[in-house]
Amino acid sequence: MASPQKLLALVSTSNRENLPWFATQLYEFGYEIVASGGTAACLRSNYIPVVDVSQITRHREMLAGRVKTLHPAIHSGILARNCPEDLQEMVEFGYQFFDVVVCNLYPFEEIAKRGIKIDDAIEQIDIGGVTLLRAAAKNYQRVTAVCDPNDYQRICSEIEASQENRTTLGLRKELALKALNTTAAYDFAISNYLRYEFKAGTSQMDLRYGMNSHQKEAQIFTFSDVLPVATLNGKPSFINMLDALNSWQLVQELRNISSLPAAASFKHVSPAGAAVAVPLSSAEVLSSMVKGFELTAQATAYARARSADRLSSFGDWIALSDICDIATAKLICADISDGVIAPEYHPDALAMLKKKKSGKFIILTMNSSYRPSIKEYRTVFGLHLQQERNNSVINREALSDILTRAKDLPSSAILDLLVATIAVKYAQSNSVCYACNGQIIGLGAGQQSRIHCVRLAGEKAKLWWLRQHPYLATAQFKNYVQRSEMNNIIDVYVRGTLDIDIPKTDWESYWEKEPQELSMDERQKWLSKLGQLSMSSDAFFPFRDSINFASTIGVQYIATPMGSTRDDDIISACNDKNIVLTRLPERLFHH
Ligand code: 5GP
Repeated sequence: MASPQKLLALVSTSNRENLPWFATQLYEFGYEIVASGGTAACLRSNYIPVVDVSQITRHREMLAGRVKTLHPAIHSGILARNCPEDLQEMVEFGYQFFDVVVCNLYPFEEIAKRGIKIDDAIEQIDIGGVTLLRAAAKNYQRVTAVCDPNDYQRICSEIEASQENRTTLGLRKELALKALNTTAAYDFAISNYLRYEFKAGTSQMDLRYGMNSHQKEAQIFTFSDVLPVATLNGKPSFINMLDALNSWQLVQELRNISSLPAAASFKHVSPAGAAVAVPLSSAEVLSSMVKGFELTAQATAYARARSADRLSSFGDWIALSDICDIATAKLICADISDGVIAPEYHPDALAMLKKKKSGKFIILTMNSSYRPSIKEYRTVFGLHLQQERNNSVINREALSDILTRAKDLPSSAILDLLVATIAVKYAQSNSVCYACNGQIIGLGAGQQSRIHCVRLAGEKAKLWWLRQHPYLATAQFKNYVQRSEMNNIIDVYVRGTLDIDIPKTDWESYWEKEPQELSMDERQKWLSKLGQLSMSSDAFFPFRDSINFASTIGVQYIATPMGSTRDDDIISACNDKNIVLTRLPERLFHH
């Protein structure tokens, strides 16, 4: 059934750019123009014949313009379908069909900046315009929704080319989507403003800055009532928040699979260390630099996480799975770090941490019962990416598909493989992680080549082990040497780069009791004792070189997704080295 009566266009605009031209064209194509107050005045001043909205509604605009077009005569005219039932009702009420709706909205976003008085901002919330556009878009089968002056020319060309002076269905569909995108963005701008006004610190939190200090107006927000994360001290930046949210997920997963308190030390959105609370050996107490500290379960997990890669952990972000007790807070205060996320803080621990970094230490709490939605979105270069969350479950079951002749996975190896696998799940890819005693001992992240990850992580694992060399156990630093300096000096010692990294002449000045010189032979001999290590990879190994390298360090257990054309070669390399290889069910790339 054809649309009855004459052609009708409803025009209600805030942006009048090119509007007189467009309205003239519509008029010449046979459209009668109906317009709201200000728009009608503009068109009349350009000598275009116009009917006022109030003539159609028989109702004047009211409430200082809050109600202009909100009337059944208008919205029935837009929403009526081309069917006998709707036509009959329209006739009954004496309403007319609109064919084109030209509307653009009050410029809320340009006017309602932060700092503007809320009452002024509220008046910029367009109600009727949004309703006009949504109605026109919904009824795209019959109505053309025009919200962008840039489309006027195209619409005119289509109408001119058509027998009935109408747009094509294809263009109406396109414009309907554009109108709904426009109203969605408009509502987002309004809720964004109101979130800041009404719920700052609750469902919205300003961040110190973006990735870099010149990237302003950084914030974190939720469409829910309350953010699950809250700040107790300091002001986190964008990267702090990325570290916090990733490290939190990691420690939660470690806690769940091990039933032990867990901790993580993050740098640049990858774990430098992560661990569960397996008690430390006396050598580990020394190499972790926690001698004399009380070691509760949470403190133990933190000490392990922090000692995986002490150089990388300098200035780190910390995550704790359990309440931050006084013992853990004391350990945290001993090292240089940027901030911490935990479910709770003992009041004395909180007071202690608040003094760290001259009061600027960032302290976040996280609601442990928070569960994210399954869909994830990200904007890159102005474009939106969407995916399902990585909900791959890393548990004992995920390690059950053993592909090698050697099949025995002792419980210690299971724990280590779980720690290493959960660590790579939250490390920037490519990533490979070595683990031992319930902790990361070396993690290679963000490398484009897998063998480079294997080597990088392996070299870190070697350094972790060398830091436990008995020669260091008896050495003693001078009182004035700071802990962060100690890390660097020990690193030079275990790598054997004295006189390259530190002048030999300075060496003595650091030590109360110097460690005995560690020869290359002694280093190798000590490294040969390293064994029973576990290793996880976030994706398949393309060549056997990774297996060969890992076995030279003492890797005995490997968890990895498969899928390489050389899978058979990887399995046979493991068989050659008597390594247990278990296939992970899913790839674990993370960016
Ligand atoms: P005019 O200047 O023509 O009086 O008003 C045009 C503006 O009013 C357009 O931006 C349009 O989106 C908006 N508008 C149209 N109808 C209504 C209404 O009923 N209420 C409100 N608040 N705005 C409307």
